[in-house]
Amino acid sequence: MPEPVVAVVQTGPRALELVELPRPRVGRDDAILRVEACGICGTDVEQYRGELDGVIDLRYPLVPGHEPVGVIDEIGSDAAERWRLAPGDRVAVEPFLPCGGCRYCLSGSYEHCNGWAQMMSYGFVPTAVAPSIWGGYATHLYLHPKAVLHKVPASIAPHVAVLFNPLGAGVRWGVTLPRTTLGATVVVLGPGQRGIAAAVAAKVAGARLVIITGLGRDRHKLDLALELGADVAIDVELEDLVPRVRELTGGAMADVVLDVTANATRPVVDAVDLVRAGGTIVLGGLKGTEVPNFPSDKIVLRGITVIGARGVTADGYREALSIIEQQRFPLEKLQTHTFALADAELAIQTLAGEIPGEHAINVVIQP
Ligand SMILES: [Zn+2]
Ligand SMILES: [Zn+2]
Repeated sequence: MPEPVVAVVQTGPRALELVELPRPRVGRDDAILRVEACGICGTDVEQYRGELDGVIDLRYPLVPGHEPVGVIDEIGSDAAERWRLAPGDRVAVEPFLPCGGCRYCLSGSYEHCNGWAQMMSYGFVPTAVAPSIWGGYATHLYLHPKAVLHKVPASIAPHVAVLFNPLGAGVRWGVTLPRTTLGATVVVLGPGQRGIAAAVAAKVAGARLVIITGLGRDRHKLDLALELGADVAIDVELEDLVPRVRELTGGAMADVVLDVTANATRPVVDAVDLVRAGGTIVLGGLKGTEVPNFPSDKIVLRGITVIGARGVTADGYREALSIIEQQRFPLEKLQTHTFALADAELAIQTLAGEIPGEHAINVVIQP
């Protein structure tokens, strides 16, 4: 009898349990990952609190965790050939499972895949769907034939490799989508792990001036952003943002503005005043509400491009792993907390800022 899988199962809002689930048998075209680390992000916090109920197709119970890294534990012969992987290889797992056949998958936009009968993304599939272990809050994860995997160089430790997820978002949202080029001025609104990662990615892409903003309580995040390559950090509670950026850019304003603040709607309005005519705004932070006084006329008259950033795709993750491997930036400083599987709830609460005295940026669960 193979050892059972130990997993954290979510049964409802703020309800997590540690359970044993049967280990599935591996077929020719799938595999099992031994999870070494699973990153958590703002989406994990919303999922834990039940804030995604009704927003996405979510049925309990399920094993959360959509940012896993681990080693191949067991792999079928066809899967080994297709993925070019062998037992012991370390991989990062993308959250989305593309069906491969819908119009979005066929046109390379698999983050919008609608070819499955239900949402197929790691961390969001109910345990009722065989073989149950679809999340990274577990000792083992089922690797479906459609899973998208990235081989992680052996030189990158699992707790650092797990940064592939926020950094992948930084690459796609801060560089690829807005086409950030050499010499660009980039303003990042919001100094969370994705905001800091976007600042890093913009510097890698050759941006001349990277400005990041936050609140007074974000001081530790702003300081880290400066250490990782941002040129200027602005505390918007102390300084008037738009005039300050005008001064810093000699009136030219920003080529690219990325908003990764959660819930706050003011940054969306600010972004329109921060970007130059013909510039690009990327919106990556969910607000859970409409934006009041949305300046639609300014967008028209100044020819501004507004892009909604949904998730990350393979190019972003591949580039993120390459940036991690280059070790040009001490990215491991992003990681502030590590928890055991049994402490998953504490991990989420720590990232959410619900634990007094803890200043989290990137939090990882290591089963
Ligand atoms: Zn995430
Ligand atoms: Zn599809």
